[in-house]
Amino acid sequence: MIIVLKPEATPKEIKHIEDKIRELGLKPMLSVGKERTIIGVIGEEDKARIQPFEAFPGVESVMPIQKPYKFVSREFKKEDSVVKIVPGVEVGGEKIVVMAGPCTVENRERLLAIAELVKKSGAKVLRGGAFKPRTSPYSFQGLKDKGMKFLYEAKKKVGLPIVTELMDPRDLPLFLKYADIIQIGARNMQNFELLKEVGKTKKPVLLKRGMASTIKDFLLSAEYVVSEGNPNCILCERGIRTFEDTTRFTLDISAVPVIKKLSHLPVIIDPSHCSGIWDYVAPLAKAAIAVGADGLLIEVHNDPEKALCDGPQALKPNKFDALMHELRQIAAVIGRTL
Ligand code: PEP
Ligand code: MN
Repeated sequence: MIIVLKPEATPKEIKHIEDKIRELGLKPMLSVGKERTIIGVIGEEDKARIQPFEAFPGVESVMPIQKPYKFVSREFKKEDSVVKIVPGVEVGGEKIVVMAGPCTVENRERLLAIAELVKKSGAKVLRGGAFKPRTSPYSFQGLKDKGMKFLYEAKKKVGLPIVTELMDPRDLPLFLKYADIIQIGARNMQNFELLKEVGKTKKPVLLKRGMASTIKDFLLSAEYVVSEGNPNCILCERGIRTFEDTTRFTLDISAVPVIKKLSHLPVIIDPSHCSGIWDYVAPLAKAAIAVGADGLLIEVHNDPEKALCDGPQALKPNKFDALMHELRQIAAVIGRTL
């Protein structure tokens, strides 16, 4: 950590800061420049962080050197993390994993039909929400426990592991029983108690980026999960709020290479929620693979006109199938398979 002093900082103020640094068991290194005087803090930065040096008289700014997150950082682990879902399906390795299915579980028959179709096209995980985080309390809220049972039935019948969203820690036992990946939605990315609860399990977690969160916030949320003892965390970029209003959100495509530089965790992209329009799903999905994403989360519905949630962004099964063919070609170009 570097403490930058105000030009008018007095020797008394400087001594007070140095004494505080020593009190914390750290070493101050004063560097007096022509224009600026700075104090380098030598030792564990975490110890210095607990002291709000910005509040000390004579201090202009404080510059941390280390990243605020530890376990999810590239410095902590050089190799890419690979999250095992079920035997033969892992996220973060050479194989790109496509997770597909309806926004929400609507009924048993429809879920089974969509599951069969996405599996035939090459999806490796079935998505579908049983507990839905809807903006309006009057919108369909999901089939809840019944939806979880339908998902489990689809898993057994069709042979695809399932990813589904958890909103309330009281439902965790149900998710531990039925889900293969616990999704934490964009709206709950900073629900820290929820993150800690899934962090206490070993179940794979799909953490979606909050719509108004920086990458630093996103990685700090992942740190909540991993620091509790669960290393099986997959990150999902799903679009952020910008001034642009032709799409529902704006896909931050640079999040993939940026996160890959900062963290060892796998990163996937959700091309459905970021645009909100089915027509943009294929081009964004192709861009996601080209930019290095480890997987995709795509909404597919066999009758989008009747969808109870997110119909406008759902791909019809034939469009999804055609997209999978194109994605295979792009994956081959970058030395990966799908
Ligand atoms: C979802 O994937 O079902 C969902 C609600 O997405 P998000 O949390 O990204 O809005
Ligand atoms: Mn949706």
